[in-house]
Amino acid sequence: MGADSVITGIDVVRLPLNLPLRCRCGRVRGVASDISPSSGIRFVCYCKDCQAFARFLERPDVLDPGGGTDIFQMPPRRVKLTAGTDAVRCLRLSKGVLRWYTDCCRTPIGNTAAGPRFPVVALIHSFIDHEAVDHSRDEVLGPPICRIHERSAIGPLPPNAPTRASLGVFTRRASKILGWCLRGLGRPTPFFDDFTKAPLSAPRVLTRSERAVLYYTGGAVT
Ligand SMILES: [Zn+2]
Ligand SMILES: [Zn+2]
Repeated sequence: MGADSVITGIDVVRLPLNLPLRCRCGRVRGVASDISPSSGIRFVCYCKDCQAFARFLERPDVLDPGGGTDIFQMPPRRVKLTAGTDAVRCLRLSKGVLRWYTDCCRTPIGNTAAGPRFPVVALIHSFIDHEAVDHSRDEVLGPPICRIHERSAIGPLPPNAPTRASLGVFTRRASKILGWCLRGLGRPTPFFDDFTKAPLSAPRVLTRSERAVLYYTGGAVT
């Protein structure tokens, strides 16, 4: 089913498009504007924090079989939350990164830096409503350009896993982010108050025993 979805033939995707954002239950909604493969950077992250986040939310379905999270990094100004912002929460697993989710139905939204200055929102696929636009992730966002932290994978990577990140990918990402800054797309961000810089919701920090449950230690792959 999934592999065939890229063969669309007659069905033309008009890009860029405005992509609806939606939690599983529909209470938290938003829109990502001007989306096309060149409007962001899509990759798959196998890091332990991304995996722990999915486990914290009891949403292992968000991860691929290797424990990877499909992420689309884009400029904050193009992300708007239009409903249910009172149900938005965040978790801090490591210093410097806030992981946003919805309290209503435990849907991962995405990741940001700990403050509003770093001009990137990393949207997680679970918050993107691809059904609403009737086009696959690959059609709208382009295929993932790389994978990162695959040494922390919890199982064999899926056969369609993207290649390792090359130096070229990092340079491309850096120049894209610089471009977003120069074009004023770095702010405002829906996750922080533009004036006070306070996060939309106070970050939750886990206790040591809560963390111990979430971090996978059983695998041979480290
Ligand atoms: Zn919800
Ligand atoms: Zn990660």
